[in-house]
Amino acid sequence: MDIWGDYFTISKWQDFVAGALESGSSPPIFNINPNDDREFDAIYLGGGAAGRFGAAYLRALGGRVLIIDRWPFLGGSCPHQACVPHHLFSDCAAQLMLERTFSGKLWFQELNDKTVSIKPIVELFRSGRTGPHAMMNYQSKEQLGLEFVLNAEAKIINAHTIQVNDSQFRAKNLVLALGAKPIVPDVPGIQLKGVFNSQSLVEKLDYEPGNTAVVIGGGKTAIEYGCFFNATGRRTIIVARHQAMSLLKDTESRSYAILMMEEQGMEFLENAELSAIQGDARQGKEGFHKNFRWHHHYRYRFYFYRDWRAGQFGAGCPNIGPGIGR
Ligand SMILES: Cc1cc2nc3c(=O)[nH]c(=O)nc-3n(C[C@H](O)[C@H](O)[C@H](O)COP(=O)(O)OP(=O)(O)OC[C@H]3O[C@@H](n4cnc5c(N)ncnc54)[C@H](O)[C@@H]3O)c2cc1C
Repeated sequence: MDIWGDYFTISKWQDFVAGALESGSSPPIFNINPNDDREFDAIYLGGGAAGRFGAAYLRALGGRVLIIDRWPFLGGSCPHQACVPHHLFSDCAAQLMLERTFSGKLWFQELNDKTVSIKPIVELFRSGRTGPHAMMNYQSKEQLGLEFVLNAEAKIINAHTIQVNDSQFRAKNLVLALGAKPIVPDVPGIQLKGVFNSQSLVEKLDYEPGNTAVVIGGGKTAIEYGCFFNATGRRTIIVARHQAMSLLKDTESRSYAILMMEEQGMEFLENAELSAIQGDARQGKEGFHKNFRWHHHYRYRFYFYRDWRAGQFGAGCPNIGPGIGR
C-alpha cells in the first residue's frame, strides 16, 4: 500500500494501526518519495526509539533516510509493550497505595482487604496504545518528513541492501536498530499458563490473576511490577538471584527503599535462584496453581519474571560486520 502524498490525520492513523494490529496480516505500508532519486544515506532497520530518532536526526542534517519496521507504527516497544504500560501500572500503584494509606479516612473509600482487578487495567492500556502510535506516525510523516516502510519484516541481503517482500532497497549505510527481546529463563515450567514477562503480560493476560504474585528478579522492571501487584492487594514475593535493587548503589538508600516496600507488605527473598515452576495445568475459578521451587516450596497463582533482555543484532543477520554500539 503506497501512502506517499496521502494526508493521514492522527485519528485516521489510529484506526489504521488498530486495524492492522487486529488483522495481523495486513500488507506493508510504503511511504517513499518517488520524486527523490538520491540514494538513501542510511536505512534504519527498526523504527523504535533508536531507529526513529536516529533517522530523524540524520534527516534534519540533510540526509536521506528510510526506516523499515515490522509493526504498523513507529516508536517501537516503548509505547507498545515496555515503558508506557509500566508507567501506567506505576501510576495505578501510586494511586492505590495512597488510597490504602488513607483507607476509610477523609474522602477515601475503604480499600483495605480489597483486591483490585489487574485484567481491566491491562485491557485499558491495550485499547489505548494506538493513540500514541498514531501520534508518532503522524509526526514522522507530516512533521518530520520521514520516509518509511511499515508492517514489513525486513531481511538483510548485504551491508547495503535490504529486502522487503519483493522489493529491495539500497543505502550507503545500514543501521540495525532492532531492539531487544526478553531472554526466557531455561527452567522447567516456564511455558506454563500464568507465567508472564513484561511483553506477554501486556499481550496475553486473559484472566484475572489469583491473590499471590511471585516476581523473579530484583531490578527496576521487576520491582516496579512487584509494587503494582502489591498495590492491587495481592501477596507479592520478590525473588532475586543476588541482592534486590542493586541498581541503588548507596546501601542506606537501598535499605530504606526495601524497608518502605516491606512496610507496604512486600516480601523479599534474596540470593535465591529459580530452578523450576510446577503446575497442574488446571485453570479453575481460583486461578492457576503452581509451585515455585528453589530452597522452599511455594504455591501461588501468578508469576512474573523480569526481563533479561538480549539484543537482536544476530537474528538472521548475514556477516556484514556491523559496528555494534557505534
Ligand atoms: C518493562 C520495561 C520498561 C521500560 N521502561 C523504561 C522507561 O521508563 N524509560 C526508559 O527510558 N526506558 C525504558 N525501558 C527501555 C526502553 O523500552 C528501551 O530502551 C527502548 O524501547 C529501546 O528502543 P530500541 O529502538 O532500541 O528498540 P525497540 O523500541 O524495541 O525497537 C526495535 C524495532 O525494531 C523492529 N524490528 C525488529 N526486528 C525487525 C525486522 N526483522 N524487520 C523490521 N523491523 C524489525 C521492531 O518492530 C521494533 O519496532 C523499558 C523497557 C522495558 C522492557
